Amino acid sequence: MSTPAVSKALVWFRRDLRFGDHAALYQALRASGRVYCVFVFDREILDALPGTAPRRDRRVEFIRESLKELDELLIAHGGGLIVLHDHARTAIPRLAGELGVASVFANHDYEPQAQARDAEVAATLVAQGRTWHTFKDQVIFEKREILTGAGGVFSVFTPYKNAWLKALQPAQLEAYPVGTLAHRLARPPSASPIPSLISMGFSDTNLTTLGIPVGASGGAKLFEEFKQRISRYRETRNFPAVKGPSYLSVHLRFGTISIRALAQSAYAITQQNGDEGASTWLAELIWRDFYMMILANNPHVVGHAYRREYETVKWDTEPDLHRAWCEGRTGYPLVDAAMRQLNQTGYMHNRLRMVVASFLTKDLGIDWRLGESYFATHLNDFDLSANNGGWQWAASTGCDAQPWFRIFNPITQSEKFDPQGKFIRRYVPELTKLSDKDIHAPWLAEPILLEAAGVALGKTYPWPMIDHAKARTATLARFGSIRKPSEKPGVG
Ligand code: FAD
Repeated sequence: MSTPAVSKALVWFRRDLRFGDHAALYQALRASGRVYCVFVFDREILDALPGTAPRRDRRVEFIRESLKELDELLIAHGGGLIVLHDHARTAIPRLAGELGVASVFANHDYEPQAQARDAEVAATLVAQGRTWHTFKDQVIFEKREILTGAGGVFSVFTPYKNAWLKALQPAQLEAYPVGTLAHRLARPPSASPIPSLISMGFSDTNLTTLGIPVGASGGAKLFEEFKQRISRYRETRNFPAVKGPSYLSVHLRFGTISIRALAQSAYAITQQNGDEGASTWLAELIWRDFYMMILANNPHVVGHAYRREYETVKWDTEPDLHRAWCEGRTGYPLVDAAMRQLNQTGYMHNRLRMVVASFLTKDLGIDWRLGESYFATHLNDFDLSANNGGWQWAASTGCDAQPWFRIFNPITQSEKFDPQGKFIRRYVPELTKLSDKDIHAPWLAEPILLEAAGVALGKTYPWPMIDHAKARTATLARFGSIRKPSEKPGVG
């Protein structure tokens, strides 16, 4: 290895909280003889979180716990993590000055606010006479790397996926061998203990009680477990009562697992034996790339419909209905169970995210942006691109979205995907004694059976807050007036 060109460098960790297979860390180690590492609990982000101090936010605790592990690993290799609670825009250039580094390295972020912050940090560093280097790390293909034959940006998933798979080369999935250069890590000049939750205005959450594994070791453990059942993913992934998906989303969100390692593994299993479970799961990772690519190329999706003609949809303002949806009191058991899962754990199964998003927008007629923002504050895995994409898909305002005339029926979704009501019973215990048949729509059960199950509608469990058939008609009218000529209503 040739002598590094840069004497001292700083790596700024953000949503990439791992030591291994880290693009920016590897590139900094290659370029520099002494590499410092920093993470900033950015006050700009933390201070904007809702609630009054001490606030509870599993994500802040997840990050803090994951940083402990990252710090230990860096220390074991001769380095260490500087952890600040500050405004990143000013803290990074200040720290770069204090350490006297020539360059700052980080991985790309595709969110508009983060990009504005990075541009400001980069400008300040350059004005100080330092250099700023960023790298692709959190996706396999970014920005405009996958384009249509005509050179445009894709807006439909399946052709994007096909082009993605065609463009994939095994070398693109290779890990960055950080360990080989780890001797260039530099110890922080002074001890920098990780700030406590309380010092940052937060308190403990139920993260540990829930058993959510943290850090890179937690991500690796979940993936090892998931590999044992990946072949069954295609059959199991839609049933919330079954341990079907990987539960890796929070790790992908904070980078405690490498997307290259996951894609490499899923791709290899698919190639070896044509495993349909692994190829279906790989497609989910491609959805992730897809929505990151959509956000990077269409920043107007933040706060606005991807398809601009749907900006004119007239949503209802129903604060009481919205509150009942948030609290899991709609009277539709599957919707309520899903919302309670979100409120209690910060996770929601993908099928249920689609069901509750459809219910909010198409049954209650409430603006998708209200649902998007509720998810943004409550999901452990909240990711602007996937959340916005998912909401706009359900609301039919997005790219490659559910057509506006396809409206999930919350009862048939419940009967199909939670046939024995196992998931409902877990989160809506007041309905536990209803039969597997009646649990999906208690108001249709015989009064005598309700009484025997201890269910008093309006007292122990709500009446349904809307009639699905009527809501469906209202939604068809809402969207029908602005539909595009090519779209034809069908059976929802
Ligand atoms: P798995 O089924 O094991 O999938 C593996 C990984 O693939 C996920 O961890 C995720 O990174 C990615 N993935 C899977 N499905 C999607 C998808 N549709 N779009 C983008 N990436 C996907 N996912 C988030 O990570 N953050 C969000 O904020 C988010 N909000 C959503 C909102 C709505 C309304 C909907 C319908 C979906 C949303 N999703 C979001 C996508 C999906 O629901 C979650 O990624 C998934 O449920 C996470 O569980 P898992 O890790 O067990 O998934």
